[in-house]
Amino acid sequence: MTTVFTAKRTPVHRGPAAWSAILPGQDAIVELREDLSADFVVIGAGFAGLSAARRLTELAPEAKIIVLEAGRLAEGACARNSGFMIDLPHEIGGQGYSGNGAARNRAQIALNRQAIGFAKSAVEAYDIDRNFFDPVGKVNGAVSGKADSLNRSYAADLAQIGEASEYLDAKAMAEMTGSRHYVSGLFTPGTVMIQPAGYVRSVAQGLRRDGVAIFEHAPAVKVENTGAGWTVSTATNRVSAGKVIFANNGHLESFGFARQRLMHIFLYASMTVDLAGDVLKKLGGVPRWGITPSDPMGTTMRRIDGPLGGNRIVTRTCASFLPEMLPSETALQRAAKVHRRKFADRFPALSDVPMEFTWAGHLCLSRNGVAVMRELEKNLFSACGCNGLGTVRGTQIGMGAAELACGVTSDITRHFTAEEEPTQLPPPPISTFGANIYLRWKEWMAGKE
Ligand SMILES: Cc1cc2nc3c(=O)[nH]c(=O)nc-3n(C[C@H](O)[C@H](O)[C@H](O)COP(=O)(O)OP(=O)(O)OC[C@H]3O[C@@H](n4cnc5c(N)ncnc54)[C@H](O)[C@@H]3O)c2cc1C
Repeated sequence: MTTVFTAKRTPVHRGPAAWSAILPGQDAIVELREDLSADFVVIGAGFAGLSAARRLTELAPEAKIIVLEAGRLAEGACARNSGFMIDLPHEIGGQGYSGNGAARNRAQIALNRQAIGFAKSAVEAYDIDRNFFDPVGKVNGAVSGKADSLNRSYAADLAQIGEASEYLDAKAMAEMTGSRHYVSGLFTPGTVMIQPAGYVRSVAQGLRRDGVAIFEHAPAVKVENTGAGWTVSTATNRVSAGKVIFANNGHLESFGFARQRLMHIFLYASMTVDLAGDVLKKLGGVPRWGITPSDPMGTTMRRIDGPLGGNRIVTRTCASFLPEMLPSETALQRAAKVHRRKFADRFPALSDVPMEFTWAGHLCLSRNGVAVMRELEKNLFSACGCNGLGTVRGTQIGMGAAELACGVTSDITRHFTAEEEPTQLPPPPISTFGANIYLRWKEWMAGKE
């Protein structure tokens, strides 16, 4: 019997992948120009896909591994984020940070740290520029008294499970950021700040040196099983493989899986021009910092310096629910205006500094916060649906799918295979309308955070 899964759509991006654009040019593109066979084919070269490929090299060192990426390396969501690899729970759409039980939090933290450890081992093995993977921690910024108390109760929750944090007052926040916007902050040391495009490109280079074939501009459009194993087709060629791993984020649904169960959220961010010396003097503060908002729907801010691609500030806020996975130019323009306002609120003296880039990126959530990391059909696996912290969760589910494909059981496989199915969403347009109203309301509630 033949089983066929055909892609209804492949990724379309809105705005540039800024983290890639600020680095020196990429290696020459490697395209798929012939039919090939492999032991494993991985679809998608983001955090999940590259982590799956790397875990496969560990578990099956002799295996032939092929990765197919729809676009260029480091131009999808993996290079459109804010670059916080966070070890502590942070639930988008949840009741803040401290709603879970202590045991669940501890287990989640252990899994997150395992993924960060795996990323660190790639950085060491491939001798990746340490500026691209900087274990400096991050700050949860508070703008209002309410957010300040949230931070204080978050600190108390962390202390209860033996996790360190440091309270920063308004003066310390101003000394760090150059902004008087924050009333306080909570520093936690376990976050790694990555240059996402630098990290992803370098992991891909390391994998290639280790014999993994990674093809770009190679969107998988059909995955079929004729009884003799799986064949993945692109527009021009076919790759046959014993086992296939979908690591293509929300585009798993484009192949007909988890239909109407995945929430396709697009987040937006802007990055300033490279700040000139006189602007930096006016700004003050230290050259690198990262601030997540105390309210998950608030604004994430990050400052970077030269080795990461220039002295720049990144502002991330605004979200839309787009089941068709196509962010519009209008939504991008709206987000750009909000970013300008949020930036000016924080840095009034810099309000005329231009933004060089504004972009949208795809985040795949489920209502019940679960991923789709399992065997979908015999020898067909999935590592999709990161639910927010995709740098870490994507790494976890990629590792886990590779382990499942190799018959290995671990804490990661046990955790994700025990999860329920993603909850069914109401049909569109109810879901689209309802979710977008909800997101705008949450944005409004987040106020100046
Ligand atoms: C503005 C913004 C800020 C964010 N900030 C953070 C943050 O600070 N920390 C954090 O942890 N997360 C953050 N995220 C989320 C994070 O970027 C994503 O969750 C993460 O990239 C998901 O990783 P992934 O590997 O699952 O998917 P992706 O990174 O999307 O990788 C999937 C890849 O599959 C490819 N693909 C899709 N379909 C096909 C196909 N048919 N054939 C071949 N290839 C295909 C895509 O081109 C893509 O490269 C942010 C996201 C955005 C948009």
